[in-house]
Amino acid sequence: MGTAYIALGSNLGDRWATLSAAVRRLRAEPGIRVLVSSEFYETVPVNCPPGSGEFLNAVVAIETDREPHDILQLLQHIERQFGRVRSEPNSPRTLDLDLILYGDRVINWGEPPAGSPPPVTPDLVVPHPRMHERAFVLVPLAEVANGIGDAAVHPILKKTAQELLDPFLPKYADLSEPRPRVSFDPRPHPQTLTGLRALVTGSTSGIGATIANEFQFHGAEVIRHGRRERSDPNERFVSADLRDSANVDRLANEAWSMSDGLDILVCNAGADTLTGAAGKWSFDEKLEALLDIDLKATVRLSRDLGRRMKARGRGCIITVGWDQAETGMEGDSGELFAAVKGAVTCFTRSLALSLAPEVRVNCIAPGWIRTAWGQTASAVWQERVRTETPLEVWGLPEDVAAAALWLASPASGFITGQTIRVNGGAVRA
Ligand code: ADP
Ligand code: MG
Repeated sequence: MGTAYIALGSNLGDRWATLSAAVRRLRAEPGIRVLVSSEFYETVPVNCPPGSGEFLNAVVAIETDREPHDILQLLQHIERQFGRVRSEPNSPRTLDLDLILYGDRVINWGEPPAGSPPPVTPDLVVPHPRMHERAFVLVPLAEVANGIGDAAVHPILKKTAQELLDPFLPKYADLSEPRPRVSFDPRPHPQTLTGLRALVTGSTSGIGATIANEFQFHGAEVIRHGRRERSDPNERFVSADLRDSANVDRLANEAWSMSDGLDILVCNAGADTLTGAAGKWSFDEKLEALLDIDLKATVRLSRDLGRRMKARGRGCIITVGWDQAETGMEGDSGELFAAVKGAVTCFTRSLALSLAPEVRVNCIAPGWIRTAWGQTASAVWQERVRTETPLEVWGLPEDVAAAALWLASPASGFITGQTIRVNGGAVRA
């Protein structure tokens, strides 16, 4: 797998939203693994028609075994998805995606050998022919290359990204000289969940962490849970191993008393039986772990906190199932997840009846979501995700968090006892 770099630019419309969504789109692409994304930089237009607006630029480093031409096609497809219309050169664009470097590959670079016909405009030039002249590429490129410990050497000029950037720096000693400046998210924080207290289990990483972050961004007071120790006494965090029912009860008590009650509970914690040492466990060991953590802890915690919420007159509970539990999937993992997540989904419906009308209870059933396992899953799995998902991309933790936010918010006030699939269309009916 080679490391490649993609530059992003936008100077039309909601640039921040476009760039964020474009980075997410790349992260969702099967066969590409985004290693790191740079800050977003505000930059002045270079060689653009008069009146062109300032750009927002960024660079992402990716790992991929897909061919450069295939990547170019993907970039152009994404540009179109984001409403790019090609007109005069360098005209304002919602999104520009350029392949900057692809390992040490050189494609269509420089003069053709003597005697060969003049090139038709090459559809792909790598390294990008103007990258070394553009501070708006080099600044974020040097940042991400540095972040992953790669020199990002230009295979023709034989210079690292930092060395290509160095000549620009003396100019910037003059503070009035325009330069790429780090830009901060200009959007005001939405207040969707302001005043609400949420517990998200299994929220130290992956989908749980993304849900917790999203809830917090929308104003909720979030208590996180995981197996690690609390890092400082003021941290809104409860440490508990959910395989032990006494710990589940303690989690409920501590979280409830930490904020004098809870409005939202997300039972996200699940045993990871795919990666690390657990990947090698026997079927029975995996089954035990999944039953304890995904099923029994969810049942115990949501019954306990659900009754307290009901007594207080309001609340919202979200559990996490699996879309293929309904349709089936071959192999050990398919059997295990179907048994356990299917039970979670069915339990959720009954709990919704027990706790109505005060408390709403719903289940999110994710499809192929790119968590730790999906990052490094083999090419065969990448292709399988693409063919089984009508939208042809992985789901991201953000997609699950968006559904959780909606289910936790007043906007879904008439929704209870439902299973919401977040799966790109993989399982329907
Ligand atoms: P620019 O990115 O220079 O502002 P465009 O996005 O309009 O301009 O791209 C013009 C053409 O450049 C495209 O048709 C594309 O085929 C070609 N191209 C050549 N090399 C690359 C590359 N490395 N990355 C992206 N596009 C490239
Ligand atoms: Mg381009």
